[in-house]
Amino acid sequence: MQTKSKPYIVGLTGGIGSGKSTAGLFFEHQGIKVVDADAIAKDILHKESDALQQVLARFGASILLDNGELNRAKLREIIFNNDDERRWLEQLTHPLIRATILQALYDSQSPYVILMSPLLFETQQEKLTNTTVLIDIPESIQKERTQARDGVAQAQIDKIIATQMARSLKRERAEHIVDNSGDVQALNEKLAPLHQHFLNNAHEHKK
Ligand code: ADP
Repeated sequence: MQTKSKPYIVGLTGGIGSGKSTAGLFFEHQGIKVVDADAIAKDILHKESDALQQVLARFGASILLDNGELNRAKLREIIFNNDDERRWLEQLTHPLIRATILQALYDSQSPYVILMSPLLFETQQEKLTNTTVLIDIPESIQKERTQARDGVAQAQIDKIIATQMARSLKRERAEHIVDNSGDVQALNEKLAPLHQHFLNNAHEHKK
């Protein structure tokens, strides 16, 4: 069997609405593969998955919507109020999420690969990376842009922000901090030299 060498992995993070996906698009336009940890986590419990069968066996048919898909709001409510159930769900989903992320990272043919994750530092995902980038904005802009994008209530946004690591801690943990309080062009202009830096590092990494 051919063994692949470990790719050079850049963790891309930031709170909700900070501009991770917008930054991810920039890297994709440079031909860099972006692995979306959030999308993978959601997909683990898709309609035909074995994991969803196990959730169904544990919580009963009322955990499904009429179309057979998972009622995510209901599951969130259960685990929010019950630590045992939360742990049960995590022991089911976390290894699957990790394995799927690893496979996506290692399957990549691009010069380096981005692991995009809102919870990079909160979870063990940071350990998979060679370096990290934080997309950073003041909380006022974060709330404004999230509200404009999602159209949800401020209270809901505040709740999500409260579950994420504090901005100051993320700033301490990240190797590179990119301010995204300007426009998208300003963001891209800050990302371009970072991209070159990662290309060089990836090249050294392969030697
Ligand atoms: P995240 O993936 O971190 O949740 P997004 O990349 O989706 O954040 O950005 C949140 C919202 O703000 C989106 O609607 C996006 O188009 C917008 N946005 C991102 N960066 C900027 C920027 N520099 N200027 C204006 N709007 C932005």
